[in-house]
Amino acid sequence: MTQEELFKKLVAHCKEYGFIFPSSEIYDGLSAVYDYGQLGVELKNNIKRYWWEAMVRLNDNIVGIDAAIFMHPRVWEASGHVGAFNDPLIDNKDSKKRYRADVLIEDWIAKQDEKIEKEVAKARKRFGDSFDEPLFRQTNGRIKEIQTKRDSANARMVEALTAGDLAAVKSLIEDLEIVCPVSGTKNWTDVRQFNLMFETKIGSVSDGAGTIYLRPETAQGIFVNFLNVQKSGRMKIPFGIAQIGKAFRNEIVARQFIFRMREFEQMEMQFFVRPGEEMKWFDHWKSYRMRWHRALGFGEGMYRFHDHEKLAHYANAATDIEFDFPFGFKEVEGIHSRTDFDLSNHAKFSGRKIQYFDPETGESYTPYVIETSIGVDRMVLQVLSAAYLEEQLDNDSRVVLRIPAPLAPVKAAVLPLVKKDGLPEMAQEIIDDLKFDFNVSYDEKDSIGKRYRRNDAIGTPLCITVDHQSLEDRTVTIRHRDTMEQQRVAINELHAIIKKETGMRRLFREIVNN
Ligand code: ATP
Repeated sequence: MTQEELFKKLVAHCKEYGFIFPSSEIYDGLSAVYDYGQLGVELKNNIKRYWWEAMVRLNDNIVGIDAAIFMHPRVWEASGHVGAFNDPLIDNKDSKKRYRADVLIEDWIAKQDEKIEKEVAKARKRFGDSFDEPLFRQTNGRIKEIQTKRDSANARMVEALTAGDLAAVKSLIEDLEIVCPVSGTKNWTDVRQFNLMFETKIGSVSDGAGTIYLRPETAQGIFVNFLNVQKSGRMKIPFGIAQIGKAFRNEIVARQFIFRMREFEQMEMQFFVRPGEEMKWFDHWKSYRMRWHRALGFGEGMYRFHDHEKLAHYANAATDIEFDFPFGFKEVEGIHSRTDFDLSNHAKFSGRKIQYFDPETGESYTPYVIETSIGVDRMVLQVLSAAYLEEQLDNDSRVVLRIPAPLAPVKAAVLPLVKKDGLPEMAQEIIDDLKFDFNVSYDEKDSIGKRYRRNDAIGTPLCITVDHQSLEDRTVTIRHRDTMEQQRVAINELHAIIKKETGMRRLFREIVNN
C-alpha cells in the first residue's frame, strides 16, 4: 500500500469511527474546516492536557492565560500582520488552480534533495562496504551539479521573498521550469500578495462599526498581557506565559486534511528572557520540546529539526520540528527567537511603557522572547498517522490505532462475556467505580472477538472482560491492545493497573529526566 493510499484510508477511518468529520457535511462541507467527533474531541483534549501540564505544571516559572479571540485592531498593526502577513500566490491559467508561490519553489527544492539521495543510494548499493559516503557527496559530478542548482534557487527564493520582490519570485518559477501538478503547463499568472487574516465587524453598522480581525495566532494575546501577568503574578525573568486557543487563517491552499485548516487551534508559549541570553533559552526549548514529542514513542527517526534560512521579520533564529507524515516530513511545531520585536512594537503603538525592572541587575529593559508554537490539529494528525496500522494476524487481520495510552480517547472497555447471568451488572459495577477517574466504555453487543476489534480500531489500550469466573472470585481478564496478550487480575487491582498504563506520569518523567 502506498503512503497516499494509507492516508486516504486514515481519513476514511477517522470519519467512520467518529474522530473527525468535514464541517457542515450535510451541506457538502466547508473547505479546510473540520469538526471533531466523539472520539476526536477526547484525543484532542488529551493532547492539550499533555501539552499544558508539560509546560505549565512541570515548569514552575510558566503560567497560563486564556485571552479573547477578538483583539484591538491596532494589535495587528503592531505585530506586523496587517502589513506583512501575506502569502505570495500564483494561479495556473489552464487548471485554474491556485498555489503558494513559495511552496511551489520549496517543492522543487525538495525534489532536488530527493534526486541527490537517490544518487547516493544507488552508489551505496554499487560500492557496498567500501562506500565512502561523505567523499562521494563532495566529489560526484552529478550531485555537485544538482546541489549547485538547488542552492542557487534557494538563495534566489530567500532574497526575493525577503525583499518582497514578487516579479523575481515569478521569474524564478519560470527559470526553474516549474509546471502545474494538475495541468502540467507553465502558463502562470503574476504572483500576488494575499493577506491571510479574516475580517469581521464589531458593533452595529449604524454606530459606525469597526473592522476587526479573527486572530491568526494566539501569541499576541500573551504579549499584550505581559505586564498584567508579570505584575499580578510577581513573575521574575526568565518566565513564560502559555496559552491554548483557536486561530484563523484564510489559507490559499488548504490541503492534506487537518494539516492546513482555516480554523485551527494552537498551543503557544512565550518565554521572556534577558537580552543576550536568548540563544541559551532557544537551545533549551528546542531540546525540551523535542523530548515532549519523542516521549510519545513513535521513534527517533520520525522527527527532525529544520532550521529556517528565511527568517520572519521578527526573528533572529528559528527552527521547525518536523514529523514524518504519510506525505513526508512537515512542520508540526515552530520554535522562534522573536527578539524584543513584539513587546517593543506594542510599546510603540500603544504609547505604554512595556519593560521589566530586573532586581538582580538593577536595570530596566524590554525582555527578549523565545516562542514555542504547535498546532493541536497537526498534533492530532501526527498521532493518528503514526498510530494507524493494518496488521496481518495468523488467520485474520485487524486495523489497530496504536495511540500512546495516555492520549487514547477511551482508556478501557468493560465487556461482559455474555449478556446474561449477572455479567452485565457486574461490568456496570466495575464501570461505576472506574468512571470517576478514567474514560471507560461499556459494550455488550456482538461476539467478544468483534468487540476487541472495535476497540482496537479506536485505540482503546485495555479491554476488561467479565466472565462466569468473575462472579466466583472477583477476577477479570485484561487484554492489551498492542500485544493482544491477556492476564487475569483481581477487580480491586484494576484502578492501579489502568492508572499505571494510561497515566501521563511516564511521559513527564522522560521529558524531565533526559
Ligand atoms: P506553515 O509554514 O505550515 O504555513 P507556519 O510556519 O505559518 O506554518 P506558524 O505561524 O509558525 O506556522 O504556526 C505555528 C504552528 O501552528 C505550526 O507549526 C502548525 O502546527 C500550526 N498551524 C499553522 N497554520 C496552520 C493551519 N493552517 N492549520 C493547522 N495548523 C496550523
